[in-house]
Amino acid sequence: MVTMEKIISLAKRRGFIFPSSDIYGGFAAIYDYGPYGVELENNIKKFWWKNLVRQRQDIVGLDSAIFMHPKIWEASGHVAGFSDPLIECKNCHTRSRVDHLLEGIGIETDEKMSEKEINEIFSKNKDKLKCPNCGEKDFTDARKFNLLVKSNLGNFTDNWDKEPVYLRGETCQGIYVNYKNVLDSTRVKIPFGIAQIGKAFRNEITARQFLFRTREFEQMEMQYFVHPDKEMEEYEKLRKDRWQYYLDLGLRKENLKWNKHKNLVFYAKAAYDIDYNFPFGFDELEGVHARGNYDLSQHTKFSGKDLSYLDPKTNKKYIPHIIESSVGVGRTVFAVLTEAYTEEKIDKEMRIVMKFPKKLAPVQVAVFPLLRNKPELVKKTKEVYKQLKSEFVCEFDDNGNIGKRYRRQDEIGTLMCLTVDFESLKGDDLTVRDRDTMKQERVKINKLTDYLKEKINV
Ligand code: ATP
Repeated sequence: MVTMEKIISLAKRRGFIFPSSDIYGGFAAIYDYGPYGVELENNIKKFWWKNLVRQRQDIVGLDSAIFMHPKIWEASGHVAGFSDPLIECKNCHTRSRVDHLLEGIGIETDEKMSEKEINEIFSKNKDKLKCPNCGEKDFTDARKFNLLVKSNLGNFTDNWDKEPVYLRGETCQGIYVNYKNVLDSTRVKIPFGIAQIGKAFRNEITARQFLFRTREFEQMEMQYFVHPDKEMEEYEKLRKDRWQYYLDLGLRKENLKWNKHKNLVFYAKAAYDIDYNFPFGFDELEGVHARGNYDLSQHTKFSGKDLSYLDPKTNKKYIPHIIESSVGVGRTVFAVLTEAYTEEKIDKEMRIVMKFPKKLAPVQVAVFPLLRNKPELVKKTKEVYKQLKSEFVCEFDDNGNIGKRYRRQDEIGTLMCLTVDFESLKGDDLTVRDRDTMKQERVKINKLTDYLKEKINV
């Protein structure tokens, strides 16, 4: 069975994900992507970009900066309202989100509730709640903490704490404030979307779930601008597309489910999450929301710029409504690692293999000499590696013995392992082993590139 411990341990052991600042004892809720992790995340981002930008005429890309005018975060409501209610266990001092604990006993709260309102609900239900760490029931009152991360960028006075610039808390604000630039500089007409992948930062209070909740993370967001009358029709289309996207990404249907929000923020028309079955249970992977015209109205109000759209057919002006798809790269990497993790009993031994879909595998081909101390085998293997490296993500591996190399490559999820042996020197062929079936085939080296292209086919 796949557990958090198994995924975290494999991810570190095999160079996918390292805790940040590891040699300094780590840095809470921040992670680094190692050599295989960065290949995997790049493949995920490429797949998302292809699905939403390359394959659609009505969606264009954007890469807006992390730093933005501080007023944007006032307009978006993040300065006043982007906060989580937190309680601390008086016994072990673990901090927990009280909205999450209340949700666990079936009580929904609303992110717009004040500290006072949250505390009223909290105190009524106190005796039903336990500290998730030590099990005690003795808590402080709830306090709301703002999640925006402050910076002193460009502020050369001692006043920076009072007039902060923020690291962006979400990437979509960069899309809203560029909507008019995109409209004026490209051929798009409503309905159209703007997609962006980029870093976001949040002072998350409880960050104990590996890549699921980190303080620095990447989001892949697509905001789609529509006529008000078409909002719900387009929303249903987007929901369908996003569900299909996850199936195409390689997540199993039984590990996905829709979660309809019961408490909508006042401007939202509808909100669903796509939840994934992480090792700790089902939780939000992506949000698909119908946001009304709140975002562009707020930015019109705060910037003083007219962000309405002039319909070229009717000659009428309106403020577009927005539907959005928003997902974290890290949460997707975590879901893909969970989905791929497989333990198989082969004879009496346990094999751990990461069964990534072909398009996501961080390494496609590994090439080994059967024996590392035979120069003629090593020479031939290097020739094969040279032939393949410009076509495939390819690795030369002569560490340990062949059994160890298979074990390592299986845990990386390498699709094909190629072994050059003494026969190869005479017959100009080698053995190809398939990751999933473990079947081996002899293939002529001059046919190898075509053979692998056909097999890998991404
Ligand atoms: P949650 O309720 O889990 O805090 P959220 O509803 O605040 O998430 P959004 O603001 O809607 O999340 O962000 C959209 C997406 O960005 C989420 O679905 C998730 O995939 C990702 N995301 C948000 N916060 C984090 C985080 N701290 N670490 C990793 N990914 C995140």
